[in-house]
Amino acid sequence: MQKGNISVQTENIFPIIKKFLYSDHEIFLRELVSNAVDATNKLRTLAKRGEVKGDIGDTTIEILLDADAQTLTIRDKGIGMTADEVQKYLNQVAFSSASEFLEKYKDDASIIGHFGLGFYSAFMVSSKVEVKTLSYQEGAQGVTWTCEGNPEYTLEENDKDFRGTDVILHINDEDKEFLENHRIQQLLDKYCKFLPVEIKFGTR
Ligand code: ADP
Ligand code: MG
Repeated sequence: MQKGNISVQTENIFPIIKKFLYSDHEIFLRELVSNAVDATNKLRTLAKRGEVKGDIGDTTIEILLDADAQTLTIRDKGIGMTADEVQKYLNQVAFSSASEFLEKYKDDASIIGHFGLGFYSAFMVSSKVEVKTLSYQEGAQGVTWTCEGNPEYTLEENDKDFRGTDVILHINDEDKEFLENHRIQQLLDKYCKFLPVEIKFGTR
């Protein structure tokens, strides 16, 4: 297992995300589904160029609720990430003056999706986020990244055997509404209606 600290340029980004964007915390689902769609589209593009071995098979994105574990999982069968990519894309929240920027635009939550902060919106509703991922690349090793909403993370190998990414949200006590079927369905209807990739939630 590897342990380390996420690099944040100014101050800790998490309290900023939680505080200023709290009113619009439901956008986390849109952000995570759009990442899943991006990952799926990237895989399709690579496949068209002959860079993916074999048939890419089913690429349905799944949203899974586990009431017992109190988790919400966004699962894609897209390109996945290598350990290096996880380091690069998830650990380096490093755009200049993030806090000033968010302070300025705090009333416009739509802005968050445009600056690579999308993934971190997961921490608006989660006490802990796990990312279990396996890159599409041949011979790739699956890795699990875990973070509890502070700059510390852990990264370790896993035995995931299918390409893609599971983002597992351990939902906060205050955000229990996101463990309810009808609430998730409502958000999917609101934000995820016209996507180029099939999304499966429950029986729909
Ligand atoms: P953006 O989508 O604007 O690039 P995000 O914060 O939403 O910013 O995501 C950061 C990066 O993390 C993405 O660009 C991508 O490289 C990686 N990433 C996030 N989610 C996934 C996923 N489900 N599959 C593969 N890569 C992902
Ligand atoms: Mg994104």
